[in-house]
Amino acid sequence: MSHNHPEIREAVAKLCAAFPGEYWRATDRERQYPTQFVQALTQAGYLSVLIPEEYGGSGLGLGAATAVLEEVHRSGCNGGAAHAQMYTMGTILKHGSPEQKARYLPKIASGELRLQAFGVTEPTAGTDTTRISTFARREGDSYVVNGQKIWISRAEHSDLMVLLCRTTAREDAAKPSDGMSVLLVDMREAVGKGLTIRPVRTMLNHATTELFFDNLEVPAANLIGEEGKGFRYILDGMNAERILIASECIGDGRFFIERASAYAKEREVFGRPIGQNQGVQFPIARAHVQLSAAALMVEKAAAMFDAGEPCGTEANMAKLLASEASWFAADMCIQTHGGFGFAEEYDIERKFRETRLYQVAPISTNLILSHVGTHVLGLPKSF
Ligand SMILES: Cc1cc2nc3c(=O)[nH]c(=O)nc-3n(C[C@H](O)[C@H](O)[C@H](O)COP(=O)(O)OP(=O)(O)OC[C@H]3O[C@@H](n4cnc5c(N)ncnc54)[C@H](O)[C@@H]3O)c2cc1C
Repeated sequence: MSHNHPEIREAVAKLCAAFPGEYWRATDRERQYPTQFVQALTQAGYLSVLIPEEYGGSGLGLGAATAVLEEVHRSGCNGGAAHAQMYTMGTILKHGSPEQKARYLPKIASGELRLQAFGVTEPTAGTDTTRISTFARREGDSYVVNGQKIWISRAEHSDLMVLLCRTTAREDAAKPSDGMSVLLVDMREAVGKGLTIRPVRTMLNHATTELFFDNLEVPAANLIGEEGKGFRYILDGMNAERILIASECIGDGRFFIERASAYAKEREVFGRPIGQNQGVQFPIARAHVQLSAAALMVEKAAAMFDAGEPCGTEANMAKLLASEASWFAADMCIQTHGGFGFAEEYDIERKFRETRLYQVAPISTNLILSHVGTHVLGLPKSF
């Protein structure tokens, strides 16, 4: 819904106006990281809204964070380069030691430290995270890490990374989800000393990478929480991520609906505006109906998160509904624009590519349906 946090929305829209379509087209074309945009969001304090005031953030909560990202996307910008700075720190906030919180959170809040890389996915494990094989072997005061990760976004633009690895082999653990641990990797020290980053070019400008670990030494003091409990810690952080990404999809959907409505009123063919034809008008109206329903689920999930209630199912449902609503709106917007929908200068084909990601990442639609089928409805498990 667009009614909550009106002051934040207005201020974010104003900030985004300084980053018009030309800026995003150029970064997209060159596959450049939108550094100035991320700096502007950081300096305005929008990336620290989830960090409590005692650590230098504004502590406004997830409802405010969804307003920020929705407006970013509604304005035609892309929060994908910056959104992880908002929520990745949740692992430290929730499971870090008092020393780790005091050491890292204030600098993350000010933007002095960028913690926006999150290393979970591996090429051979896919969505089955219990099959990851990147291994951290304890040696004295260090862990020695070996393995490989894929699709680790923003790794080249991050000072720190939250890394999930095995500390006990799957076959030696009591349960498949046991024996994984979270390490905070200082990328500034790691690159070239056991960590290699290789960019992966994709259909959208997302600064995503492959990581190779070859005897990378990480201080044991950088273990977050208890050894072997990392899978649980990572799951805890995923609700915020899913709700925030759902809010980006709502923003994308609004962008497409606003652009399509404006064009359908103005473009005349056969002597009348194309929007006068119900064949053009109804898909725009349907996109609005679907997006409005999805926005309510995003709002509900964010409110539950902020109230400290379990919200795994609602976060998943919000992400599924919002990503499908934004994709329907994207397709509708291209169709409404006819040939011009494919022209780079209209920004629609770029947003179309960008919003497609969210039915796959950070979790694919099928895996959400599987969660709802088995955990909510009690249907037989397929894996
Ligand atoms: C641009 C981009 C950025 C990303 N950023 C990050 C990041 O920063 N950090 C990170 O850790 N990861 C990141 N990811 C990884 C992302 O989370 C995964 O791609 C996503 O979770 C899907 O996993 P997968 O690609 O391994 O697909 P797979 O697990 O191989 O699945 C492939 C397809 O099969 C389906 N499928 C698999 N098993 C089943 C089943 N049992 N039943 C029904 N369907 C099934 C899936 O739904 C999917 O559609 C990113 C991915 C992309 C593309």
